[in-house]
Amino acid sequence: MKKRCKFCHKWFTPHPQAPHQRCCSSPACRKKRKAAADKNWWLNNPKYGQSRRPKIKAWAKEYPDYWRKYRKEHPDYVEKDRRRRRSAHQKAKNAAKQDAVRQISVEKLESIRDLTPICAAKQDAVHRRVNGILDYLFWKESAAKQDNMVNCLASGP
Ligand SMILES: [Zn+2]
Repeated sequence: MKKRCKFCHKWFTPHPQAPHQRCCSSPACRKKRKAAADKNWWLNNPKYGQSRRPKIKAWAKEYPDYWRKYRKEHPDYVEKDRRRRRSAHQKAKNAAKQDAVRQISVEKLESIRDLTPICAAKQDAVHRRVNGILDYLFWKESAAKQDNMVNCLASGP
């Protein structure tokens, strides 16, 4: 029975020994299948990489020329690694920026909330409306960053 390859979408006949085969036997597709399986394995075994890291670091210290030589001989790896590092850095930077923005909103909201008791004595309706808006804004911030906001809401009026 013929099947379509998961990667190149061409028709192929699975090996009789592997009826569940989802990818054709062309070298390019086999390489993609292996890369996908490896990625999946690393996602399912996150602790393996963590426990290996100190060993790899120690090893790299023993053989400082290895990576230098490898990078010299594999320029496409260098380019790929550079892109990966840049995007990881950018992601971390954006996350930090988002956190800072949230922190500022929370601080501003808290300062507004601290002012409201003065209004409350004079203008009850306005106070209630302001509180409603504040509740919404607090909720919005907390939905964006749960753990940070739970404390702020708990200590509210
Ligand atoms: Zn294929």
